[in-house]
Amino acid sequence: MNIETKLAQAGNRQDPLTGAVSLPIHHATTFAHPAFGQSTGFDYTRTLNPTRKVLEETIADLENGKRGFAFASGMAAIACLVELFDPGDHLISTNDLYGGTYRLFEQILRRKGIETSYVDSTDLSQVKAAVQPNTKAIFIETPTNPTMKITDIAGCVSIAAEHGLLTIVDNTFMTPYFQRPLDLGADIVLHSGTKYLGGHNDVLCGLLAVKDEKLGERLFFLQNSIGAVLGPQDSWLMIRGMKTLALRMEKHQENAAKVAAWLATHPAVTTVYFPGLDGAPGKSVHDQQCTGAGGMLSFEVEHESMIEPILANLKMITFAESLGGVESLMTYPAKQTHFDIPKEVREAYGVTDRLLRFSVGIEHADDIIHDLAQALQAAKSEVAAK
Ligand SMILES: *Cc1c(COP(=O)(O)O)cnc(C)c1O
Repeated sequence: MNIETKLAQAGNRQDPLTGAVSLPIHHATTFAHPAFGQSTGFDYTRTLNPTRKVLEETIADLENGKRGFAFASGMAAIACLVELFDPGDHLISTNDLYGGTYRLFEQILRRKGIETSYVDSTDLSQVKAAVQPNTKAIFIETPTNPTMKITDIAGCVSIAAEHGLLTIVDNTFMTPYFQRPLDLGADIVLHSGTKYLGGHNDVLCGLLAVKDEKLGERLFFLQNSIGAVLGPQDSWLMIRGMKTLALRMEKHQENAAKVAAWLATHPAVTTVYFPGLDGAPGKSVHDQQCTGAGGMLSFEVEHESMIEPILANLKMITFAESLGGVESLMTYPAKQTHFDIPKEVREAYGVTDRLLRFSVGIEHADDIIHDLAQALQAAKSEVAAK
């Protein structure tokens, strides 16, 4: 089945009793045992809930995996999967990592004796050089957040295979609609479902998918033991959102391409990061492992002093954290998503005080560009007047 069909059909045919086309929401925390020593397959909701189970099967299917797991947030999913590692273990990651993941790795894992090396993973020789005798996994995002750096997933997988490491890919930006890391040999794919998969800025969720049964059993044990599972109402909201993922991603991408092209010619904009632009670094690798450029872009303006007036003058686009919803959102990484990363560290890989990240929504592209144009113009005038 094609992914559009899998998405639209998610949650259908799950209730033979009524034929309900919309997935029933099972709020029950516990389920009656038919008899002594018997179970319906559902005993207690932390372990398995009928609504969450459908979401978990759906993400596994979309990523071409065997097992899927749903958590209360993307961070809960990451916090669960890092329990695969022990004190003394070592991880390799991208230096341009999601701020919350960096915070977890540096302020929580490191305290427990699990160290992470950050490398420019666009350069596979750096990944290779970072492997130590105690390395257990390569954890990447591609494209990265917010400078859209591209890492060769299959290249990381082959380094991992040589050294017996797991390859873990945060696929939040691309979603399985554009990129399926398990098909490229990755072991674990993870999502902040809060973003494109949910798609409406109304549900917090984390998802994991794996294809190996043994790894799946281990994650199932950890998920149930730690307990940060997604509730049934939120599981339903996720399925509800995911049904339109294909349509939304196409529109996000179409708009992002138009906005990126427009920004690239704007005199106040010095750099545009978007993997769909001609000549974007890593574009050939991206095009090989991915069927689209997605809806995220970042851009740098001439002067830091323009940032505040741009954000203040946006009328339709919302100044807010997060990404991947139908509404256009503008983020200032230096003060928001990447605030926990030391200034010298983030500036070294491009997250400067002049950088804005833009989650391009599904509004009409002309309205998005019009809003950006007037905000940039107003900012230029305000700065010039000072
Ligand atoms: C948002 C995000 C996360 C964290 O997910 P939450 O749902 O906010 O906990 C992890 N990785 C990436 C790339 C993200 O954008």
